[in-house]
Amino acid sequence: MAQVEDKVETRTIRNYVGGSWVDAGTDELLEVTNPANGATLAQVALSTAADVDAAVRAAREAFPGWRATPPLERARACFELRHRFEERKDDLAELVTRDNGKARKDAAGEIRRGIECVEVATGIPSLMQGANLEDVSRGIDSDMIRQPIGVFAAITPFNFPFMVPHWFLPFAIACGNTFILKPSEQDPLAAELAFELLDGIGLPPGVVNLVNGGKDAVNAILEHPGIDGVSFVGSTPVARHVYETAAAHGKRVQALGGAKNHVIVMPDAELESAVDGVLSSAFHAAGQRCLANSVCVAVGDAYEPLRERLAEKGGAMVVGDGADDATEVGPVISAGSRERILGWIEKGVEDGGELVLDGRERGGEDGGSFIGPTIIEADPKAEIAREEIFGPVLTLLRARDLDHALEILNASTKGNAASIFTTSGAAMRKFRYEAQAGMLGVNIGVAAPMSFFPFSGWKDSFFGDLHAHGRDAIDFYTEKKVVITRWPKTA
Ligand code: NAD
Repeated sequence: MAQVEDKVETRTIRNYVGGSWVDAGTDELLEVTNPANGATLAQVALSTAADVDAAVRAAREAFPGWRATPPLERARACFELRHRFEERKDDLAELVTRDNGKARKDAAGEIRRGIECVEVATGIPSLMQGANLEDVSRGIDSDMIRQPIGVFAAITPFNFPFMVPHWFLPFAIACGNTFILKPSEQDPLAAELAFELLDGIGLPPGVVNLVNGGKDAVNAILEHPGIDGVSFVGSTPVARHVYETAAAHGKRVQALGGAKNHVIVMPDAELESAVDGVLSSAFHAAGQRCLANSVCVAVGDAYEPLRERLAEKGGAMVVGDGADDATEVGPVISAGSRERILGWIEKGVEDGGELVLDGRERGGEDGGSFIGPTIIEADPKAEIAREEIFGPVLTLLRARDLDHALEILNASTKGNAASIFTTSGAAMRKFRYEAQAGMLGVNIGVAAPMSFFPFSGWKDSFFGDLHAHGRDAIDFYTEKKVVITRWPKTA
């Protein structure tokens, strides 16, 4: 994204600290654009370490009072937030489409998933309960209680600008912690509106804080002694950096990284539903989903018919502005990202790959960052089959049998998700038993996260122990304390 010249006069997104909207203490601004047409929507300040420090101070100050607020009242705040989000869900979705580019339907789905996280967090009076046991020894009882820890931060990526922040925020504050969000600087508008709505639910100042910015803000978060824990979602190299740096600074950390997900199609699969599942997984949201299947492994006789139908139906997918109802594949996030993805396609061909479907020329007008669905046949060892591209590019591979397909899948350094299309229970069971990935889909192209289950990948797709949302979130955002008690007999 281009650095903004002084002369550009557009609204600058502010930080939300201690219950007020404040300017970041920097002149370094970044243009926020609509990737469908390149239009400037706003500009965002790249906050400094001092801006992060201000948010940490506000959050620390708010912590004792918020911690002592009964869980039932914290749950009521989540109910109110859910209500406000529900009222404005269409506005939130529209902002996501304009700022991120994804099609309306994908944006609406993202808002729904984010709201579901708030819904699960409303259960905190039950979820946060501890455990106890009488008579651990004669006349002695033991209790395990959960306590909030302090100040947590989340650092989030561009591809789900509303949903991913809500994998963390509602659980952190429902557990009694205070919270700082550093959203992606590429599409910060949905987080801004979410905080406007949070501002209206009567939380004490400092319970939630928003700090916009890029890597300087991230590094300030990782090194700040006033932050107890960090959640990160983004690419693998940054996830590794976040994990190592936050841990070296004594923080609790969960860092969700990048992906290269495989979908296996067996010869016994129901062909058309497999084709639809593979295409929507690979190309909706322009392939910019960490759960997108970007490698399709066709087993045996499945290969030829699958190749033909993928090319036919993939070529017919509607590419365009996500704001148009007919659009299935919106733009990628930026012109820079488009160039990077085009470079990958070129490299795939140079390395011996064959284009089955070439989307490079589709919908490129009007300053938008479009690439149409692209399918490339390649060797499993080719870089295009192994590295994350994060765009509408599907690599098609051939496998002899299920063992061979699983060998290809499990050779990946990443393990975020995987899918299989089959009508065989035995094949499905073998896949479930052996596939090395955190999220599996069976006759489903996107193994989507459900807010009441834990969510994360394996291998280089995740650094940490406790996964996002579900019960893992309660473990992540609380510390367990065990109290052992004996009372002298007084009667
Ligand atoms: P990214 O790693 O570039 O950025 C993520 C966050 O890190 C942003 O807030 C950004 O400001 C910050 N950041 C970027 N570079 C940094 C650096 N050098 N030092 C410190 N901070 C830095 O990721 P992205 O491009 O925004 O998102 C796409 C990536 O996220 C893909 O790799 C995708 O697979 C991954 N992702 C993973 C999941 C998951 O659940 N595992 C979910 C969504 C996205």
